[in-house]
Amino acid sequence: MSFSSNTKTELCRIQAADCCRKAECYGLLLFGRCFSAQSITLTTENRETARRAAELTAGITGAFADVSVSPRKGDRKSAYTVSVPGENQIEQVLNQLGHTGREISLRINLANLENDCCRSAFLRGAFLSCGTVTDPSRDYRLEFVVPYRNLARDLTAFLTDIFELDVNPGMLNRKGSYVVYLKGSEHVSDLLTFLGAGNAAMELIQVRMLKEVRNNVNRKTNFEAANIEKTASAAAGQLMALKKIFAGGGVSALPEELRELAILRYRNPDLSLRELGQKLDPPLSRSGVNHRLRRIMELADRLPATEGESHD
Ligand SMILES: [Zn+2]
Repeated sequence: MSFSSNTKTELCRIQAADCCRKAECYGLLLFGRCFSAQSITLTTENRETARRAAELTAGITGAFADVSVSPRKGDRKSAYTVSVPGENQIEQVLNQLGHTGREISLRINLANLENDCCRSAFLRGAFLSCGTVTDPSRDYRLEFVVPYRNLARDLTAFLTDIFELDVNPGMLNRKGSYVVYLKGSEHVSDLLTFLGAGNAAMELIQVRMLKEVRNNVNRKTNFEAANIEKTASAAAGQLMALKKIFAGGGVSALPEELRELAILRYRNPDLSLRELGQKLDPPLSRSGVNHRLRRIMELADRLPATEGESHD
């Protein structure tokens, strides 16, 4: 399975709150192949996504969606099509989601997002429906392929609003569709975390660490090749712990003596423990740094799991 497909499968295991289920259902249907009075249809290569879309549609709108599968042909994988049959049912779904199906241009109706938590669920639905994320060993890139221009613009604004100025989504035209994309490991892993795909974000960070450490080998002649993988995955674990701490109340939640190191590690994932110690004021030995990082990891372990982390 591809990285993208694994990510979607992970997202489909999330047990969403009631308010979020509606937002996710809306994201799935609105960003499908067609969302109008003539047809509400989405197509996906991921079976779990098709099942989730059909279940949410039934649960939220009361309409029963058909799921059909087209067999794989040559290079083409098998695809699942979820569609709402019958004019009456289509109208019912549109009504429930605050649309008429006759809008001149399709826009996001924010009334379907009841609470702040629903923003993540809505975006998850959109990603499941029309998104892909590139295997991090090739590139750091996440895309939404949207059939309608104003909808793509709304999505861009929505992403910018959530991540403020940190993320600047791009938009381009490809084969008649509008592609909204994010680049860069930080942005892509932040978005994956936001959607609830903690494992996929972790995998991406690990791949990045490994690449960075490998690049550093050329500069550090005394570095033992056998330790590369170990170092990278230890640092990736520290980064995930720090993200959890920052998400759960910020660096001020840490005891004072750990704060400087926490920020330093977060900004310099590729530094060795000795180098980290030298950058501290006052400097700290390698074992001192190691001891403090362990304490940080223990503190993160005691925090409640973030969404998407513990639903297996
Ligand atoms: Zn919610």
